[in-house]
Amino acid sequence: MPVFYKPVPTSEHDDEESQNLTKSRSARIKTTLFYFVATIAVMYVAYLATRSIIRSVPKHGMHGRPGCHHRNLTTLPSHHILPSGDKIPSVALGVWQAGKEVGKAISASGVPRDQLWLTSKLWNNFHAPEDIEPALDETLTRLNTEYLDLYLIHWPIAFKKGSNNVLDKELTANPYPTWQKLEELVDKGKIRNIGISNFNIARIKNLTANPLKHKPAVNQVELNYFNPQPELLKWSKENGLLLEAYSPLGSTKQVKEALSVPEVKEIAKKLDITPAQALISWHVQRGTIVLPKSVTPSRVQENFQVVTLPDDLFDKLEKAATSHPPQRVVNPSKNWGLDFDVFDENWPL
Ligand code: NAP
Repeated sequence: MPVFYKPVPTSEHDDEESQNLTKSRSARIKTTLFYFVATIAVMYVAYLATRSIIRSVPKHGMHGRPGCHHRNLTTLPSHHILPSGDKIPSVALGVWQAGKEVGKAISASGVPRDQLWLTSKLWNNFHAPEDIEPALDETLTRLNTEYLDLYLIHWPIAFKKGSNNVLDKELTANPYPTWQKLEELVDKGKIRNIGISNFNIARIKNLTANPLKHKPAVNQVELNYFNPQPELLKWSKENGLLLEAYSPLGSTKQVKEALSVPEVKEIAKKLDITPAQALISWHVQRGTIVLPKSVTPSRVQENFQVVTLPDDLFDKLEKAATSHPPQRVVNPSKNWGLDFDVFDENWPL
């Protein structure tokens, strides 16, 4: 992450300001160093945890829920198999707002590239076919890697390049040209798998009605206790599209409430795990990939320890989550000045 310094004042009158600036500069250097070191530690812990989960799972059996209270890492899927044949880990570390630190951490960790799974997303301003490869190249440079394991269309919304959220109606209504370019980049070897994010059923059908060479490998969507989207989950399973749960703990905004849900606390107590582990295990057991984000190394490690929930406790939490009116944490429609809701199934395509 680049550090920007204000110019140091030169006159005597600026002594106090100068001292403050020096203090804040050294604080910023310390903070940057802290995050850099912490990120390396986090990536390494994530790698070790993923490796230990993967090693503990037999190659064949991935599913199953014994009706007992034993911790059993072997019964939840450690990974899912994508249409390409690639194995994607069930639990991954969300690194939202981390900039170049991820690339630096990957290099510093010494973990071989083929032992890592890297996902990134294409932002709304770069949906035009000619803008996609440069955007991807920029990401590859930042991550210091030659390919991504997964590249997603971040939103089913295209903005005109260089504009401040000016809608490109044509590419929003028809994302096929964007998809075709992504397919080309798969064939070129810069991306292993392609997918979508924040697409509802209508928009998925709108895309997949085209003669796709590579079908979407995943759909990354908000899934948490407050917004569990059971219909989308059911439809996706029926149609062979894997979901990835973002903001799985309710995001920073609602994580405290999520961890205090009585059913979550009950599971944690009965299974002797933490409330976060109860929620993450619930996601994995629902059959989705989970992307909990944490900048706290001990939590990163904690979040990779998933356990099978007994049927009765799983059902109780599922019922509680799906019985209240859904409440989204993430919906940028208004901020972007759209005259429709991004998630509206009835938006005329
Ligand atoms: P989240 O993972 O649900 O919640 C993150 C919050 O939970 C942070 O405040 C974190 O605190 C806290 N936390 C994590 N583990 C914990 C634990 N074991 N105990 C207690 N608190 C814990 O929400 P998110 O960051 O919104 O989403 C996760 C990832 O989803 C992001 O990094 C991003 O990759 C992805 N995402 C995608 C989209 C999209 O449009 N596709 C949108 C939003 C997010 P600390 O960090 O302080 O430990």
